[in-house]
Amino acid sequence: MTTRVPDFLQGGGEMGALMRAHDWSRSSLGAPADWPQSLRTVVRLMLNTGHPMYIWWGPELACLYNDAYRESIGPERHPESLGRPAREVWAEIWPIIGPQIEHVMSGRGATWHVDQLVPITRHGRLDDVYWTYSYSPIDDDASPGGIGGVLVVCTETTKQVQVAQQLTLERDRLAQLITERTHAFDAMRASEARFRAALKAGRLGYWETDLVARTRTWSDEAMALFGLSRPDRKGKVGGPDDEFVAAIHPDDRHLVAHYLELAQQLDTFAADYRVVRSDGTTLWLSGRGAVTARGAEGEPLRLISVMADVSEQRQAEQLLAVERERLRLALSAGHMGAYELDIASDTLWWSPETYALFGVTPATFKPTRESVIGLLDPEDRPGFAKRRRLAINEHQPFFDEFRLRRPDGSRVWIGYRGQAEYDPQGRPVRTFGVVMDITERKKAEQVLRDAGREKDDFIATLSHELRNPLAPIRNAVNVLQHLPPDDARVAWCRDVIGRQTAQMARLLDDLLDVSRLTRGKVTLRVQRLDAATMIARAIEIAQPVIDGAGHELLVDLPEQSVQVQGDLTRLAQVFSNVLINSAKYTPPGGTIAVRAFARDAALVVKVRDTGIGIAEEHIDRIFDMFGQVESASSHAQGGQGIGLSLARRLVELHGGTIEARSEGVGKGSEFEIRLPLARSGGDDAPTAQPAVVGQEREA
Ligand code: ADP
Repeated sequence: MTTRVPDFLQGGGEMGALMRAHDWSRSSLGAPADWPQSLRTVVRLMLNTGHPMYIWWGPELACLYNDAYRESIGPERHPESLGRPAREVWAEIWPIIGPQIEHVMSGRGATWHVDQLVPITRHGRLDDVYWTYSYSPIDDDASPGGIGGVLVVCTETTKQVQVAQQLTLERDRLAQLITERTHAFDAMRASEARFRAALKAGRLGYWETDLVARTRTWSDEAMALFGLSRPDRKGKVGGPDDEFVAAIHPDDRHLVAHYLELAQQLDTFAADYRVVRSDGTTLWLSGRGAVTARGAEGEPLRLISVMADVSEQRQAEQLLAVERERLRLALSAGHMGAYELDIASDTLWWSPETYALFGVTPATFKPTRESVIGLLDPEDRPGFAKRRRLAINEHQPFFDEFRLRRPDGSRVWIGYRGQAEYDPQGRPVRTFGVVMDITERKKAEQVLRDAGREKDDFIATLSHELRNPLAPIRNAVNVLQHLPPDDARVAWCRDVIGRQTAQMARLLDDLLDVSRLTRGKVTLRVQRLDAATMIARAIEIAQPVIDGAGHELLVDLPEQSVQVQGDLTRLAQVFSNVLINSAKYTPPGGTIAVRAFARDAALVVKVRDTGIGIAEEHIDRIFDMFGQVESASSHAQGGQGIGLSLARRLVELHGGTIEARSEGVGKGSEFEIRLPLARSGGDDAPTAQPAVVGQEREA
């Protein structure tokens, strides 16, 4: 059977072709030639538009659609659904569209749906498909109610809806992001506030230096440190306007170039310098510089500097250094050293002075308990170790003295004061203390001991000396009592008494002089004296002793008068003392030579004898008080060791010197006395001119 294709089915692409080829006889629509006019019109419209259109027609609502609709219904319905009843084709979504179709078919008018979700299965999966569509009635007089079908003009808006949804999502996310950002910003502001507070608390400041633009950007805190106020926070790098360099203390300015050099090589480096602020105060700053950008050659382009005010620490350090220096000076002035011994590790620390005390250096000597003990005099080692151990055990401070044998052979006395520290169980943890050189004290103690002994010897000798003249005196007095006054023996008694009392008087005078000299209470009756007169007076005093020993006396005086300023009696006492000594310490029949001359504004008097001489080691001692030489004092003529001591003090009171020389025991002695010459042209009068020298003058 050939059917003529009606005009309204012409065109229409694939769907047109399908509709033309379709066997309509088996559908509820029947042959297209019999389709009512209104349906034909709408079908023609549908097939000839690019817009997706769909038609449900007749009581079964047979499905018709165009090419534009194919994609939307998927292979599940295309092309099989053509002409088939809507209820079967769209069973899946009938609950949604069924009522809407019913609404139109029952004459209640068209419907309009925007972005309606109508999920359908296509391409094998259930898609959330969105549509914007209208269901419009298609009139047909022959149909009940005058409505033959429904025209669906429809656009799938899944993409737009999805985009819109995406957009909403994005917007929500954006909103979320903004909220988060705001929170982050708030947090950052809070953190920045904390950062600023921290900078302030730490008296820290930072700035950035742009070495290319030659500018500097200051933080408020850094400006406060440098005493700068710049509203724009900008500064200049280099040149006369460089506010940074200008603020640096002149003595530290050279460091600026140094830091720039460091920045060439290091990414971060330490910096320390002083700044002088506009108010005149000086701050010590300490911190770091960090290179934040480098050029192609590695040259620094930008740096960040962070500096803190460390003035207080520096002052404390300086104070500490001064204290340390003081302690060091005190230790070295007191010839003292400090030590500390950690008992657990058995490590010994010594202050630098301690090395010097022990005569070693840190380079050549490592102080340990053993090495230090090794320097002690072997005799002192056991006692020291024992006493130290005992003191530590008894929790007592420890004082001791020992002798050292230094590596260079010298010997010193060391005083040692130590103490231990204990743990809660009472075990010693460390000991510490000071050591000091007490050699001088030890020497002084020895001198004192010697002096004490000498004094004892002296008193013993003196008692003898004072007793000796007493016996002949008493004897003479006894004799006198039994003699008539005109007896010739009376003269002998007078002689004995006279001689012996004179000796006692001399002895006592010497003793009194010594005590006066010691107390600085000697008065000189100073006058211009002729050397010859003075020496003659001394010889006169010494002559009996010289003659008594049968010595020859040679005297060589200057031809012209040589004059000195002095006390005649005292100076005659000095010279007679020396002459009597020569007589005493020269075996009988010796020679004593006195020679006087002027030289270098001084009167020089030399007294030389051929006597027993003085051993070299005794030369210095003979001028000391009671400074007798043992072998000499045992000599019959020995005295009390007062004469030379007295002589030296008297000569020194006159501004002169006295020295002894001897080539040794048995080789004679020579005493040389020098006195300043009286100034010429002054008072020539030889008359006595009393003057007072010594402490009495001030009194
Ligand atoms: P002394 O009363 O013992 O003589 P001095 O002070 O005068 O006291 O002398 C001190 C010591 O010096 C003497 O004990 C003696 O040992 C020694 N001395 C002094 N003069 C001479 C001398 N010319 N020759 C040798 N020894 C001397």
